[in-house]
Amino acid sequence: MTCNNQLVYLDESTLTDIKRLLRPNLRSLQPAVNFDGRMMYPICPNCDAYALGMDMETGFPFVTASGESKTIHDAPYRRRKG
Ligand SMILES: [Zn+2]
Repeated sequence: MTCNNQLVYLDESTLTDIKRLLRPNLRSLQPAVNFDGRMMYPICPNCDAYALGMDMETGFPFVTASGESKTIHDAPYRRRKG
């Protein structure tokens, strides 16, 4: 299942933290790609908002396709729960 959201990119240590802390069912995680010289894991910020820390005080850091550092609590990702 896919949606039309633009993917964002997680580094490996962040992905490890997510798995350890939340044990989420990652629905949109893709195999790592070379992103600006780093191996990064594409993930959909809509399908996997929970895994990115939507319910946490501080979201996990990710990088947008245009190279900006953001979290799920930043625009345009933030949304109302439910
Ligand atoms: Zn999605």
